[in-house]
Amino acid sequence: MDYKKLSELLFPNVDKTPQYFEELYPQRNVPKGACVTRIGPSPTGFIHLGNLYNAIIGERLAHQSGGIIFLRIEDTDSKREVKGAVRTIIKSMNHFGIHFDEGATLKKHDNNGIYAPYKQSDRKEIYQTFAKLLVSMGYAYPCFCTQDELARLHEIQQRVEDNFGYYERYAIWRDRPIEDVEDMLAKGEPYVLRFRSVGDINNYVYVKDGIRGELRLHENYQDFVLLKSDGIPTYHFAHVVDDHLMRTTHVIRGEEWLATLPIHVQLFDTLGWERPLYCHTPQLMKIDEDTGKKRKLSKRQDPELALTYYVSQGYIPDAVWVYLLTVLNSNFEEWFTANADKSYLDFPFSLDKMNKSGALLDIPKFNDISKEIISKLSVEDIYDGIAQWSRKYNRKFYKVFTSNPEYSKKVIGIGRSGDKPRKDIESWKQASKFLSFYFDDTFKRKDDFPVNAQGSDKDIILTKYLETLDFNDSQEEWFNKVRAIAEELNYALQPKKYKKNPELYNGSIVDVSNVIRVALTGRQNSPDIYEISQAMGETMVRDRISECIELSSS
Ligand code: GLU
Repeated sequence: MDYKKLSELLFPNVDKTPQYFEELYPQRNVPKGACVTRIGPSPTGFIHLGNLYNAIIGERLAHQSGGIIFLRIEDTDSKREVKGAVRTIIKSMNHFGIHFDEGATLKKHDNNGIYAPYKQSDRKEIYQTFAKLLVSMGYAYPCFCTQDELARLHEIQQRVEDNFGYYERYAIWRDRPIEDVEDMLAKGEPYVLRFRSVGDINNYVYVKDGIRGELRLHENYQDFVLLKSDGIPTYHFAHVVDDHLMRTTHVIRGEEWLATLPIHVQLFDTLGWERPLYCHTPQLMKIDEDTGKKRKLSKRQDPELALTYYVSQGYIPDAVWVYLLTVLNSNFEEWFTANADKSYLDFPFSLDKMNKSGALLDIPKFNDISKEIISKLSVEDIYDGIAQWSRKYNRKFYKVFTSNPEYSKKVIGIGRSGDKPRKDIESWKQASKFLSFYFDDTFKRKDDFPVNAQGSDKDIILTKYLETLDFNDSQEEWFNKVRAIAEELNYALQPKKYKKNPELYNGSIVDVSNVIRVALTGRQNSPDIYEISQAMGETMVRDRISECIELSSS
């Protein structure tokens, strides 16, 4: 067969040579050992935590080594494409601190970098050129099989219990005379371009994986599709051509691609190109609430899989980073504790310390990390965070929260000075719920009064409290007055004493202070009552307390 002739027949309009593109996209001018990484999301509109997980690995490897990370839009499946998705990808990644050195940008056909275009749909000419090369080498051929013919092959394979697929004797278009191809082309019949595999299922290929070590895989023996009938490449072909020409050194992608890895290395090897270092990342898993077993996160069941979840809940990007680094590198947590004054970006991230099995997503642990990080922020930063989040996601709260910034900052500051700041904010959404009691417009009573002090007991406590309340009292004087009320009404001053002999008391001082707390804040859990009262001011305090006395007498 004259392969050169076949290649001209199939690609008469391709006038560029592979050499042309090799020169157009030269080797990168980066320091020795620098990593060139990328993410290649598809513009489906859904961007998930796994994308960020991989992006963080790529960003760290690149920027730690003086290399670069770029963004390539893998839009070869136009059916799944959603309008505005590229914007979502770039915005979300930037929000979470992934800034690309190169790649697709917010403008439609704009490209930032010399390896452009960074959108696969704009790279058709490049794929065609290399497809033509493969045909001329005898490594690719057109296949005019219809769906019916493929289904028939499948049936035969089922009957004779052979492996499914398009290969060897089943590859009916593999060695057809050129005249048959000419005929079909003349009739305008559609075709796909297939790779002619010389692989053998009984052979193994060895691939070094940056996370999993050396892999032994069955060689590919299938004549897989390179170009679909509309001339658009499959993921396999586009990945190999793009990562070669964009001079990617590390391909970081999900483990779902392990199954087709033999195809990818076969293409690299056939074209005589150096393979990148593949790094297949583990699936994100969670413990299922119902079964208690580990399972993959699913788009349908788990809102926390979507990156937008973390934005809409008002989680801070730093917390997401720290959490993901904790999952990614087994030595991160220890390092971060020992280097409390450093940024997580100073951590020496390494592929060796990566977990090979599923990465377990543990939201309670994430919340703890988040609380820890927020506890170290300044009052100003917390104020800004809540204001920005609520402006978009909770307008009502935004209005009250920002109407008197000084007051809002004062209440945020409660319990936040000193060496042990309160760790009570995990996200801006939760913070706005928590802080809502400080503002009359958003205040709602949530909790009941303590069981040991309901009804008239509660009324007496609150009445006495109001009688003795003096806003000029120091914290100590104030507390002594609360103690005096407790003593007078037979509530033990030491909770232990009450526990020992509950029949001797009405309750303990904890009940008395919780009556005041619930009257003031509507909840049994809150920062220090004295500090809250000082921030709220006398009028609000007296109003909230009287309101509770009135409520019960009515
Ligand atoms: N478009 C592929 C995906 O979304 C990218 C895989 C890769 O990084 O090579 O899974």
